[in-house]
Amino acid sequence: LSASHSCSVSKVRVVIRVRPFLPREISEKNGDAESCISVLDSELKSCDEVTVHLKDQETRQVQKNTRNECFKLDAFFGQEDNNISKIFQEEVKPLISGIFKGCNATVFAYGATGSGKTYTMQGSEESPGLMPLAVATILSICHNTESRVKISYYEIYMDKCYDLLELKEREIAIFDDKDGQIHLRGLAQVRVNSISEFHQVFSCAIQRRKVGQTSLNDVSSRSHGVLVISVSTPCDDDSGKSVDGKLNLIDLAGNEDNKKTCNEGIRLYESAKINQSLFALSNVIYALNNNKPRIPYRENRLTRILQDSLGGTSRALMVACLNPGEYQESVRTVSLASRSRHI
Ligand code: ADP
Ligand code: MG
Repeated sequence: LSASHSCSVSKVRVVIRVRPFLPREISEKNGDAESCISVLDSELKSCDEVTVHLKDQETRQVQKNTRNECFKLDAFFGQEDNNISKIFQEEVKPLISGIFKGCNATVFAYGATGSGKTYTMQGSEESPGLMPLAVATILSICHNTESRVKISYYEIYMDKCYDLLELKEREIAIFDDKDGQIHLRGLAQVRVNSISEFHQVFSCAIQRRKVGQTSLNDVSSRSHGVLVISVSTPCDDDSGKSVDGKLNLIDLAGNEDNKKTCNEGIRLYESAKINQSLFALSNVIYALNNNKPRIPYRENRLTRILQDSLGGTSRALMVACLNPGEYQESVRTVSLASRSRHI
């Protein structure tokens, strides 16, 4: 375990990742783009918590009383060019060992559209995100062992679940078994033996999600994209049984502010569904982190589906992604993230 993990108190760690300004944003501000998010250097060394300061850069010049807020979180990853391997090593890798002992884990990317969720989870060819990094690490642990790795990839859109590994996007039925366990009936699982096999399967699936974008108006930012990496390890004792664990990596739908985006009709309904599910998720994480006797999994489709991978022996991580030029949006994201974390 990394230092940051062994001294953490919360069960679901909640961390911040601020993306850099994009070249377009820098030129729009004539090279004077200043981040609205900061953390004191002394704070970065602490392993228990960091205080994130948010300052409204837009009103700074005109108003005497600058708008200012601060929130406490577990860790902060700033705008450095490429900190994804640091995030992976410190925050995600510690969750992976549990998968081989039969414990599940979940990693969420949370934030507004354009804040870097997909970049954090999928990354680019030059800079792979948490999804390919996790698959590569899991495969390397499995190398020369009997463990098998399979992946599933689906999206949750308007409370419905769609398989993205099928040639044609297909709705998946969700049902409870007699033990109250949730199942996604017929969800495809594809065995992967190498990272190149993973990329082959996954890039097709991502393409499918993109196709949906044109017909349904950017579904990718309105749906939760869930990659499941399942590991099955045969028991040593000739019983024929296996130890099964899975890691869910989730690119959550954007937490847009309806009032700001003037959503109407179906868009408003979609946004309401998204906000309900994100709020339900935050409530579950809050309840877990604060040892509440009852965890409200059943209040939403998303939390119901993730019930076996949140709480219990499972571990989870929420990465709240921020655009450094968006004050109001960042306050929305960080306040919910911070609220989920701890009292
Ligand atoms: P979201 O999925 O939250 O809507 P994206 O991941 O698509 O946001 O990111 C928005 C834009 O910012 C994309 O052009 C992406 O390439 C870029 N971006 C995001 N995070 C980073 C980063 N850490 N470094 C460089 N570019 C980034
Ligand atoms: Mg995205």
